[in-house]
Order: sequence, then C-alpha cells, then structure tokens
Amino acid sequence: MTYISESLRRLVIQRAKSRCEYCCLHEFYAFFAHEIDHIYAEKHGGDTIETNLCLACADCNRHKGSDICSRDPLTGDVVTLFHPRRHEWQTHFRLAETGLIEPLTANGRVTERVLQFNRIELVTERARLIAKGGYKENDT
Ligand SMILES: [Zn+2]
Repeated sequence: MTYISESLRRLVIQRAKSRCEYCCLHEFYAFFAHEIDHIYAEKHGGDTIETNLCLACADCNRHKGSDICSRDPLTGDVVTLFHPRRHEWQTHFRLAETGLIEPLTANGRVTERVLQFNRIELVTERARLIAKGGYKENDT
C-alpha cells in the first residue's frame, strides 16, 4: 500500500465534503471510515496524485478494487467506470427518493453493477437517510 501524505489525504476528504464520491454516503453515517481510493489503481499505472484520488466508502472501495472498466449490461460494450475527477456525478446518476441510485449512462450502469451500490439493504438505509435529510447527491 502506498503512503499518502496527511495533506493529500486532507485535500481529498475536504474536496469530497466527506462523502463517498461513488455512492454519496457521508462518512458520518458510515459504519467504517471512508478510504482514499486510487481511481486508476497503481497496477494500471495510476499515480498517487490528487487527480487520481477520490474518497470512497469502504463498501464501494471493496467492490471496486482495482477495476477500471466493465461490460455495459445493456450493450455488452466495454466501458470505463465512473471517474470522479473527470465525470460529473449528476450526469451519470440520479438519486431517487426510494434510495435507488439510478444510472443514466453506460459509465453509470457499469459502475452501479460493479460497485453494487443498489443492494436492497443499502437502498433501504439510503431511503431512511434521505427522509431524514441526511443523504443527498454529490455536487449539491
Ligand atoms: Zn460508497
């Protein structure tokens, strides 16, 4: 595991407003601390620099692993995962009142499938937090 300086770690957390940059879960409501994710894993040539780092909840980070792309369930095409530094969250996803994170693009579809952030227990908890005002889309 690569060393990430305290200042770089702080920058990533502040930039993300302490929310997972994939599923939008605020760290305050997470069971485990959020983690610094290499968007492109080091084994794919990803550097430990601010443009290749994002904040991810432990669950999203565990499912993402070192993946950078997958097959679109709709077309079968190989598509890159959502890239928090290059993509706008609201272009690729929509947070429904039901707690579902609806993918809007091919990048969104592969990311939703690989990171599995619409598992029923997560959607149920998300809906509960939305109703309490504790969950909102990133960039809002
Ligand atoms: Zn997450």
